[in-house]
Amino acid sequence: MEPVSLENCEQLVRQPTSDSLTGSSNVLVFPKVPEQIAHRKASLSSKVEHFTESVIREMTRQAMLYGAINLAQGFPDFSAPAEIKRAAQQAIAADINQYAITWGAKSLRQAIAHKFKEWQGISLDPEREITVCCGSTEAMISTLLAVCNAGDEVVIFEPFYENYGPDAILSGAKPQFVKLHPPETPGGSWTFDEAALRKAFCPQTKAIILNTPNNPTGKVFTREELELLRDLCLEFDVLAITDEIYEHIVYDGERHISLASLEGMRDRTVTINGLSKSYSVTGWRVGWTIAPPAISNAIRKVHDFLTVGAPAPLQEAGATALELPRHYYQQLAESYRERRDQIMSTLVEAGFHPFLPRGAYYVMTDITAFGFSDDIRFTEYLVKEIGVAAVPGSSFYHDPRDGARQVRFAFCKRDQTLAEAARRLERIRR
Ligand code: PLP
Repeated sequence: MEPVSLENCEQLVRQPTSDSLTGSSNVLVFPKVPEQIAHRKASLSSKVEHFTESVIREMTRQAMLYGAINLAQGFPDFSAPAEIKRAAQQAIAADINQYAITWGAKSLRQAIAHKFKEWQGISLDPEREITVCCGSTEAMISTLLAVCNAGDEVVIFEPFYENYGPDAILSGAKPQFVKLHPPETPGGSWTFDEAALRKAFCPQTKAIILNTPNNPTGKVFTREELELLRDLCLEFDVLAITDEIYEHIVYDGERHISLASLEGMRDRTVTINGLSKSYSVTGWRVGWTIAPPAISNAIRKVHDFLTVGAPAPLQEAGATALELPRHYYQQLAESYRERRDQIMSTLVEAGFHPFLPRGAYYVMTDITAFGFSDDIRFTEYLVKEIGVAAVPGSSFYHDPRDGARQVRFAFCKRDQTLAEAARRLERIRR
């Protein structure tokens, strides 16, 4: 047996015994831990008790279990652009295999600054205002951990991308939800009530999280809506954290506007983006924040101690990706527009009442017509008996009852995948 040092170890005591097997007269005995202490030590973080595991990721596991087509999780089942895959291969061949600078490879930060200037007209200092993270997922939690204190409130539109609720809780903040209401007419927009939004702001409000183009609704916030948010941020001295990961996936002549580009918002916005959706590389885990130097500094500290850095060779490939010409993004949006139209007609034919998305690659749909007791029973039936995985609407709301009549389908899939899903959905019982 390895010798045990008793120095600095108050829990261990030596007791004289006569152990006839070992012949030793000294064995280590652990004193009984008092019950209250044992209970406290055995319990887990109370923060974690306030949220569940990701339902979206769980639906992917279910899709694999039942051999279902996965229209649940938002990852493409087609290839990424050849030039960026080549750039990644070349970076590894060139031995870019060690840690990059913790806040991001210089080449990628320069490419981000260049693209932001070209698309949003905003000049950035890549040395002080950009932090590369492990996906926009890490960018969001690093930002919230960097800016929030206990007692702060964070305004979140719901239905929301499911990470935002847990992110706010983990950062010690209290989420305040503001409803987006489904369109009342086919093809209409999701809307929010101006008075309800104003009511969500108070002296404790630290930040608002905005996701445009929006997952799960497909809403693209208009300039007027953004101006309203801007006015409230200025009035209540609130930081805007905008997740713009679907910026290039917009339809029907909609235009994505970065909140940071509105007058007064440059210095109170953290813009989050990443490679995952624009370049179909969700597994590469490269995202970033754009924020004024003082906020970037705080984000960098959190990011460094959370992950040290994003994958170095994939950051180099990211720089190549961001230099793709404009027509790449036009083709991306057009190919998703075709898929959107395809899934819309599939869903209508199968008896759904889907809400037409104007951006991103998801459709929220009403399921009332099928007569199921709730969205969970319905998605169970879909995955097990129809062979198509979707996400229950309740996972996008803080009160599950609000999403009990909705489910979300992702359509970032090949034509043949969507065609097979359509064939299976024809068998749905009505
Ligand atoms: N933000 C939104 C709104 C998303 O829908 C997703 C993924 O589905 C992410 C962030 C995750 O992005 P990343 O892969 O960069 O972490």
